[in-house]
Amino acid sequence: MSVALVLSLVLAQSAPSLATGRANVKLIRSGDVVKAWNKSLGMVPGQQFTSAAALHRFAMGVRSYGEETKLVSEGLGVKDGLYIYRRVSGVSNWARGFVLELTMDEKGRLLAASMSLPNDEAPTTYGAYKALVKLRLPLEDTWHVLWGGRSWEDNRHASVSDMRFALDLLQREKGTSARGKGLENDDYFAWNQPVVAPADGVIVVAEDGIADNVPNKAPGGNLYGNLLVIDHGTDEFTLLGHLKKGSLSVRVGDRVTKGQRIARVGNSGMSTEPHLHFQLMDTKDWRTAHGLPLVIVDFVRNGTLVDRGEPRRGDIISPVVGVGARD
Ligand SMILES: [Zn+2]
Repeated sequence: MSVALVLSLVLAQSAPSLATGRANVKLIRSGDVVKAWNKSLGMVPGQQFTSAAALHRFAMGVRSYGEETKLVSEGLGVKDGLYIYRRVSGVSNWARGFVLELTMDEKGRLLAASMSLPNDEAPTTYGAYKALVKLRLPLEDTWHVLWGGRSWEDNRHASVSDMRFALDLLQREKGTSARGKGLENDDYFAWNQPVVAPADGVIVVAEDGIADNVPNKAPGGNLYGNLLVIDHGTDEFTLLGHLKKGSLSVRVGDRVTKGQRIARVGNSGMSTEPHLHFQLMDTKDWRTAHGLPLVIVDFVRNGTLVDRGEPRRGDIISPVVGVGARD
C-alpha cells in the first residue's frame, strides 16, 4: 500500500460525510441539546453558537416546525475548506418543506447552522380559479395587510401550498401594531378583536385549548394554533388561524352565517404577535389542501370601495356591511 493511498484512506475516514451531517441533525433535533453540548458534541465554541443556550434556542426554533416526517433530499458540498450539509425535509407543522443547512469543519464539528423555508412560490394550477363563495372580510373595523397577494415578495405564504394566497391581518395605529413596548398580547391593537364568519357555512374543524404565545418569543410547536375551518358547501373551505385560546364560540357541526362572530383574534401557534391568518382552500385538511385565490367582496381598500378584489401587502382594508352592501 502506497503512502498516498494510506493518507487518502485516513482523510476519507475523518472528513465529514453525509452520515456526519445526519448525526449533527439528530443532535439538533434531540431534546437534549444542552447536555450534548456539555458532554462535548464536537462543536466549535466562538462560532455561531457561543453557548449551549444559543444552540438550544436554535434547536427549539427547528423543532417548532414539528417532527421530520420525511427526507426529501440531502447533500454535502465543500466550500473554502468547509463542509456544507443541506437537508430538505417534510415536517409535521409546515405543509411544504423545511431546509436545514449545517456548516462543519474538516473534523465534522459544527460551526454554523441555518434553517429556512423553500422560498420559491408554490406552483399553482388555481391562478385563474374563480371562487363560488362570496367572502367578506372575516373581521370588523379596519385592518392592515401584513402579507397578502400573489407574489413571494408580497406574500410570505406563497411558498406553501395551502397558504398560497393567504392573508395575515393586523391592526396598526401610527405605523405600529402595539402600545408601549408590546410585551403583552393585550398591548396589541389586534388582540381579542372579533372574528366573524366570512360566509355562510358549517364548521368542520374547531381546535381550541392552545395557549397564546408571549409576543416576540419563540412560538409554540403548532402551526395555526387554535383554528376554525368552515365548509362553504361549494367545495371551498376557509381557515382562520392563531385564534385566542378559549375564544371559539362555535363547534364542529355548527352552522354559521356570514358576519356572525365566531372567535377572537389571538396569538397561538406559529405567531409572534396577535394577528389573523385567513385563507381559502379546496379541502378541509390544510395539510393536503391547495390554496385558492382569496377574492373578497365589498370592502374598502385604501379609501376606495372595491366590489371584488384580492387584498395585497400594505393595503388598509375594512369591510362594507349593511346598507348598500351586496350579499
Ligand atoms: Zn399567516
